[in-house]
Amino acid sequence: MKTISILGSTGSIGVSTLDVIAGNPSRFKVVALSAGRNLALLKRQIEIFQPEMVSVIDSDHAYQLGEILDRPLAVKILSGEAGCAEVASYRGVDMVVSAIAGAAGLSPTMAAIDAGKDIALANKETMVMAGGLVMDRASSRGVKIVPVDSEHSAIFQCLAGNNRREVRRLILTASGGPFFNLPVERFADIRLEDALRHPNWEMGRKITIDSASMMNKGLEIIEAMWLFGIDREQIDVCIHPQSIVHSMIEYIDGSVIAQMGVPDMKGPISYALAYPERIPGALPCLDLCTIGTLEFLPPDPVRFPALDLAYGAAGKGGTAPAVLNAANEVAVEAFAGGEIGFGDIPLLVKEVLESHRTQDIESIADVLEADSWARTRAMEAIKKGRIS
Ligand code: MG
Repeated sequence: MKTISILGSTGSIGVSTLDVIAGNPSRFKVVALSAGRNLALLKRQIEIFQPEMVSVIDSDHAYQLGEILDRPLAVKILSGEAGCAEVASYRGVDMVVSAIAGAAGLSPTMAAIDAGKDIALANKETMVMAGGLVMDRASSRGVKIVPVDSEHSAIFQCLAGNNRREVRRLILTASGGPFFNLPVERFADIRLEDALRHPNWEMGRKITIDSASMMNKGLEIIEAMWLFGIDREQIDVCIHPQSIVHSMIEYIDGSVIAQMGVPDMKGPISYALAYPERIPGALPCLDLCTIGTLEFLPPDPVRFPALDLAYGAAGKGGTAPAVLNAANEVAVEAFAGGEIGFGDIPLLVKEVLESHRTQDIESIADVLEADSWARTRAMEAIKKGRIS
């Protein structure tokens, strides 16, 4: 029996993870959950899974949660960053599912690694912001990091049984999102509800908007560099609208190994939770004869400048990827709030990156400082109403 703690239990990945666990009660037991403000959903999760410990965003929400639970004393209720770190490092936990969205996932994931917990990593920002530090820390603590991001789960699976030194390149597939056929002159008219209409994957709001701008793929390039110790020059992106091939590895002999499956996050979640085993029936069968056609196209750098921005930040290294990520988080929030247009998202990120002096990263504090600098800088640019 593997004991599990979930950081971000009420988000999209958290909910899917609990579905997988509910379907496999003899393999997994939930012992700790952290969530933000969605107390109604967290209450249901507590009733069903009976964790020993939960944490919420702040002490007000912790108090409210105690009020709405029928048996409040049956679970230890914590709050804030310290509470989340406790859920991440709780003694009785074997594996931590890191599924908080955005930069907020970094510190609790580090706390889990420091406590020697294996990680099922859905929070790509941990790798984007501080990949070098995280991988060093994980290897010195003997911690296994198994990716949950579908592309990285695919690469991880394609590496199994092969020699990493014989990899020629990684090919990350991207659905292309809802706008991959939209002419560039219509990007200015894109509304929030258009950006939220992802063709293949059911995901949270931030990542769905990132998929539409392809910044998600940009972040995934950086995530892959660190997770697999591969140079950015060895990572290519290929548009694959059907989202059946989740990514591929080309080896030095020209052989390409691809991982395929029905596009459902329960696949990579099940794989990470059960690793190195596989769960029977985790996904419905893939019927390629019914699907018939799989297409592959090159990405368009003019309509989707986010990819080049990410390659550029990866090349600069140091604090640049954290700045890219933070500026993008602010830009996506501003777009969702109607303050800037969809096409302004990469422009704002570019402006913030260009005004940043890249520093080396020696600690998580360095990363968080760059993150906070970039947020302030991005908000100033939005307030001025001038994004060049
Ligand atoms: Mg992905």
